[in-house]
Amino acid sequence: MRLLVVEDDAALGPIVVRGLREDGHSVDLAATVAQAKRELAVTHYDLVILDLGLPDGDGVKLCRDLRRDDIATRVLMMTARDTTPDVVHGLDAGADDYITKPFDYPILSARVRALLRRPARGGNPVLRGLHIELDPAGHRVTCAGVVTPLTAREFALLHYLMSRADETVSRSDIIDHVWDAHLDPMSNVVDVHIAQLRRKLSTRDSEAPISTIRGVGYRFGPSASIDGAISAPNERGASE
Ligand code: CA
Repeated sequence: MRLLVVEDDAALGPIVVRGLREDGHSVDLAATVAQAKRELAVTHYDLVILDLGLPDGDGVKLCRDLRRDDIATRVLMMTARDTTPDVVHGLDAGADDYITKPFDYPILSARVRALLRRPARGGNPVLRGLHIELDPAGHRVTCAGVVTPLTAREFALLHYLMSRADETVSRSDIIDHVWDAHLDPMSNVVDVHIAQLRRKLSTRDSEAPISTIRGVGYRFGPSASIDGAISAPNERGASE
């Protein structure tokens, strides 16, 4: 596998590179954000091991830039920043894993193996639909350009609907993906959350593009295709 280590510590960088080479990987080393960007522009890496405190910038920003540019490489952050907010901030910027210094090399080596076993990510693309934009990495939703605070459950529900945009999604699919198995399928919690999302995502000029397909489920998409979807159950004689 092709790996990039971004680390400015003159002692640690070469140690990590040597270990990873002994593990059988092809490894490059960059000591600055600028150098890392140059390498990333010309080489496809399976994994980037990223220090956060770099002489010419911050690794968290570099990670966020990679995700914004849809660069799908796996990212393992390697840093002395070990508080809970640091770790959350790093993972939310699009990192796949996080290891705090100091660490024993075998643990880094095992984390690298675990990451490389996972399928390469398809990036963490920002989802867009009409006036709504959802950024999974930044955990942020904007509605007509205005940041709209959502609860964690509302965010998960919108993410699921937008990731299956233009499909009608059944209530039981939603419950499986957004709630846990213990939710009573007869409860109206899905409907309540859909109503809250609609209210939060409507603007003066446009309604939230979430429609109810009676007897089937819900659908995120532009209203033109929603009309088509509504006619489909009627043709099959659905109870309406
Ligand atoms: Ca550093």
